[in-house]
Amino acid sequence: MSPNYLSDLNEQQRAAVMHTEGPLLILAGAGTGKTRVLTSRLAHIIDQKKAFPSNILAVTFTNKAAREMQVRIGNIIGSAIEGMNWLGTFHSIGAKLLRIHAEEANLKSDFTILDTDDQLKVIKEVIKILNIDEKRFPPRYFLSQIENWKNKGLPPEKVANSEPDIIGHEKSVEVYSSYQKRLSRLNSADFGDLLLLPLKLLKENDSLLNKYQSIFSYTLVDEYQDTNSVQYLLLKLLSQRNLNIACVGDDDQSIYGWRGADVNNILNFEKDFSGAKIIRLEKNYRSTKNILGAARSLISNNKDRLGKELSSYIEDDGDKVKIKSLYSAEDEARFVSDEIDTIISKNENLNNTAVLVRASFQMREFEDRFIINSIPYRVIGGPRFYERQEIRDVIAYLQLVVNPNHDLKFERVINTPRRGLGDTTLRKINDAARRDNTSLYDISKKIIDTDELGANPRTQLKSFISMVDSWREKINKVDHITLTELILEDSGYIAMWENEKTPNSESRIENIKELIGQLSEFQSLAEFLDHVSLVMDVENDDNTSKVNLMTLHSAKGLEFDYVFMPGMEEGVFPNQRSLDEKGNTGLEEERRLAHVGITRAKKYLFLSYAQNRRVYGNYTQSIASRFLSEIGFEFIEEELIYDTYTQQYSSFSGKNNNQKNYANGRTALERLQAIGHFDNLEYDDLTFNQDINISPNQRVFHTKFGYGTVIDCDNDRIEVEFKTGKKIVLASYLELVNND
Ligand code: ATP
Ligand code: MG
Repeated sequence: MSPNYLSDLNEQQRAAVMHTEGPLLILAGAGTGKTRVLTSRLAHIIDQKKAFPSNILAVTFTNKAAREMQVRIGNIIGSAIEGMNWLGTFHSIGAKLLRIHAEEANLKSDFTILDTDDQLKVIKEVIKILNIDEKRFPPRYFLSQIENWKNKGLPPEKVANSEPDIIGHEKSVEVYSSYQKRLSRLNSADFGDLLLLPLKLLKENDSLLNKYQSIFSYTLVDEYQDTNSVQYLLLKLLSQRNLNIACVGDDDQSIYGWRGADVNNILNFEKDFSGAKIIRLEKNYRSTKNILGAARSLISNNKDRLGKELSSYIEDDGDKVKIKSLYSAEDEARFVSDEIDTIISKNENLNNTAVLVRASFQMREFEDRFIINSIPYRVIGGPRFYERQEIRDVIAYLQLVVNPNHDLKFERVINTPRRGLGDTTLRKINDAARRDNTSLYDISKKIIDTDELGANPRTQLKSFISMVDSWREKINKVDHITLTELILEDSGYIAMWENEKTPNSESRIENIKELIGQLSEFQSLAEFLDHVSLVMDVENDDNTSKVNLMTLHSAKGLEFDYVFMPGMEEGVFPNQRSLDEKGNTGLEEERRLAHVGITRAKKYLFLSYAQNRRVYGNYTQSIASRFLSEIGFEFIEEELIYDTYTQQYSSFSGKNNNQKNYANGRTALERLQAIGHFDNLEYDDLTFNQDINISPNQRVFHTKFGYGTVIDCDNDRIEVEFKTGKKIVLASYLELVNND
């Protein structure tokens, strides 16, 4: 194999690839080819026979990135790639080490990896045994303490004397230590253990350390800015002997501070590895000049940064970044899906399009719109909205109330939250139902008046059934939103998540609120459930052209021709919780996250925000994100503003024929305020369109069913052919669309 992979690189990149011996840090901005350099370097080491593939430790940030790197190296080096046993995320590499050396860590090699829910269960047990008051010290308090320590690489015996001024420090140490013992008895490890335990083993066992120091003759690390202490300590230990460690990173893309990542790892690299060579890459190969300019102007608002030169390799200015203001979140989803329709009409592969959101609850609006408009999409890095556990649970409750004989739903919720109606009871109910050839609900009604069940389950089942009946009675008496709220409260379902108080449970609650908000779009529960069964049916195969929907965090390292970043609103992005909890540090991390988002775009970038967002069913006004106003005006295209009088989107320059006046040093936000953009917006002005003249063959848009063609009109009852089929709808819900 000839080393032609070198000819595709610029001078600095090539220098970084060729400098194989000794520590190397590549510090460079987004899209400068850091990942490309790492990949080429790996190929080079193998090609030059400096090491076998199995002797290279290569750390990526996500499994997806690891797979991509594998494919890219495979293209260069062919089948030799198969020996690359140590290419993966920190956690996957840690898990591999721990499985090999499980016994030394008091585990068996088939140990289970626990998720947060399981971790909390174990902590609950431990604090019960230790007689700790759960009200004063909730389990999640200990969980976050333990995770912090693990991120720092501290096992229980090391924390005893550290940070003694934290409230409840002694208790936390005690819980941590018992928790670890309990995990070991359960033959389980949590995520933190996958790094902490290998670190501990390597530190305590010289011969093991020797072995791995000689196995790993080269170490390569992508996204180094996001390593936390335990990851850093592992890297340092493993590469200490040969010092052939190459790390690439960008301080402006550090977005995992909340998980203990420490940008100082970059700053200290030279100190930690003396004689380290530092290479800077200054040409961005990914984005057009306008996109790069927008990213640079935004990030220059951060004080805490190393500062780097970054210029565009791409000659083309490209389109300006579009900032779009929309009336509501529905309008925003529609705007994005319309733009995507245009992309589809250009016959472009949708895999090159991404919608990046700050928080997963924002996805729902887009998923619904995509399904209605038949836009294929995939969700990266998490389940799709309706596949989430909490959403399935809530929907199961609602379905059960509408149809109590729905056995699967009955089974799903009978013991969620726990009510002492576990597997044994359920088995008995199932048996009885089969004998009687009836539903679980019907048989339960009979059983509660017999002695088939023990006293306790019988009482519990009785109260469960009477709860379901009381909800059913209310179906026609209260509106479906009130009913849903009542169900979630009575059943203890919301309380179950509220009591947990982990970031995970908070995001579940956010998703549930999003679902409740969505209910107001429907007339009844039954109508809503029909909609849900429609959207749940769409399957998720992965080879075809699809829009990528994901959070900004999971977009790290990726690139797309078209990038949409909706929800650019204060509170959403920057995220209010980050601001509240971390103040300016939090704000700067949010800004880096916005910078990561913007720098994913190669050719087209759309930033948008909704002036009104439904929060828990109520419309609240939102303010455009400060990040929008921090982007240099010269990189932005004039926004289109919704005009409440003409009910049309009119262009900013159209309203004010003298655009230059506004360009004069004003930020986007100031410009919007200057034209009274936030004044006097009334939602009701927009919903009804009484006077439109509808006739057959006219293209129309309906908020719920999307685009369609009018078939027939009967006064204000209009028959329309939508993508999902024919429907009769009210004229007042339709909007005319250009026929071409
Ligand atoms: P990020 O910080 O977002 O992870 P990065 O620095 O890792 O970015 P890469 O993903 O490696 O950047 O490269 C960005 C894009 O530029 C890729 O499409 C890559 O193929 C291309 N690229 C990098 N270097 C060159 C080069 N010398 N010639 C042509 N294209 C290049
Ligand atoms: Mg990269």
